[in-house]
Amino acid sequence: MSSKYKTYKVAIIGAGPAGYFTAQAFQKAQTYELSFAIDMIERLPTPWGLVRSGVAPDHPKIKTVSKVFEKIAKEPNFRLFANVELGKDISLKDLRDQYDVVVLATGASKGRKLGIKGEGLANVLTSAEFVPWYNSHPDYVQTQVDLSCDTAVVIGAGNVAMDVARILAIDPIELDPTDVAEHALAKLKQSNIRTIIICGRRGPEHAAFTAPELRDLPKLENTDVFIDSKQIEDAIKRISELDEIEKDLKNNIEAMRLIAEQQKKAVARKLEIKFLSAPVEIKGDGKVAEIVFTVNKVEGGKVVATKDTFSVKTGLVVTAIGYDSIEYPGVSIESGRISNIAGHVEHNVYVTGWAKRGPTGVIGTNKSDSNDVVDLVIESLKEPKTSE
Ligand SMILES: Cc1cc2nc3c(=O)[nH]c(=O)nc-3n(C[C@H](O)[C@H](O)[C@H](O)COP(=O)(O)OP(=O)(O)OC[C@H]3O[C@@H](n4cnc5c(N)ncnc54)[C@H](O)[C@@H]3O)c2cc1C
Repeated sequence: MSSKYKTYKVAIIGAGPAGYFTAQAFQKAQTYELSFAIDMIERLPTPWGLVRSGVAPDHPKIKTVSKVFEKIAKEPNFRLFANVELGKDISLKDLRDQYDVVVLATGASKGRKLGIKGEGLANVLTSAEFVPWYNSHPDYVQTQVDLSCDTAVVIGAGNVAMDVARILAIDPIELDPTDVAEHALAKLKQSNIRTIIICGRRGPEHAAFTAPELRDLPKLENTDVFIDSKQIEDAIKRISELDEIEKDLKNNIEAMRLIAEQQKKAVARKLEIKFLSAPVEIKGDGKVAEIVFTVNKVEGGKVVATKDTFSVKTGLVVTAIGYDSIEYPGVSIESGRISNIAGHVEHNVYVTGWAKRGPTGVIGTNKSDSNDVVDLVIESLKEPKTSE
């Protein structure tokens, strides 16, 4: 370390889970000889990133992690500068020059596209537009969402697709006690949508849903959930041929089997999960009216297209197939993430969370990620300085 008893100035960009867990790791790493003055910079007027604008309103327990963030923010070495955007109000070069360490925790907020014909039609939205609309993100208050059709299609087989489908499928009175955006609740109360179909292009055994979320589906009071038993039986047959079946996969398939076999309530609201269905074209005159799928099959462990197709008449398509990081001056993007080697970007600049590893893992994953990055930073501070 260059001198003893030094306070290093740290800038963390992004007030989401990764940003807060980075601040916490710096706070925990402090010793008598080493301390950090942390400035967190956030483009929005409010902190907490996707805990505020991503996590579904009917999952309030998950949002209680914000209590941890509040505790971190109360430490005397922490300051939050909200309404300041990196790349617009301040440059990465300025931050690099003014701080000893810069950690980018700016997430991944651009919804990935399918790249098929018709994706530009009205009422074809990405989850990166639809989710923040119902979660009061200031950039998405004006998003045009039309819920006048009877059937909606959600593309993707992960928890974000499930959140989107569930918000469309449940009786909106179940959202009354939540923090869902008022404008969205008003629209959902007038929604004509009664059938929601989630389509994944691979098999049940490849789905990225997690078991606790799947297990919650049969508990929905006003919605019947359907999965074709045959698709689950076929998947069970395929995975029984594997040398080893991971516990998570076993739990997922079991949760899906229970949904498939569950006695239905015969209510008007229906949520169906369809596997091995790959969207190939969205049709409509200005606005989405139909989506065409190729039927896939699993052959020799690989997912391949068959000659069969089917289509669904729909007035709303939401794609939930992942997120990429947004580029700003001073960083480059590689495979949707800020280019980095194990969290190091260049010089005194580091990256963590979704901006580092892409849109995977739960909120807690950002904690271990941020701990690793702070370990890396502290190691580098111990190294003798070379001129850059
Ligand atoms: C729809 C959805 C639902 C989810 N539900 C769950 C769940 O139920 N349970 C769970 O464990 N995980 C859930 N997750 C995952 C979880 O939200 C992420 O793991 C986590 O938020 C990633 O943290 P992050 O800090 O990297 O990114 P983010 O949470 O996106 O935070 C990034 C922050 O950086 C800010 N920012 C971006 N660019 C700039 C800039 N240029 N200048 C300044 N600030 C900037 C953003 O405004 C934001 O506040 C969900 C994710 C999504 C998308």
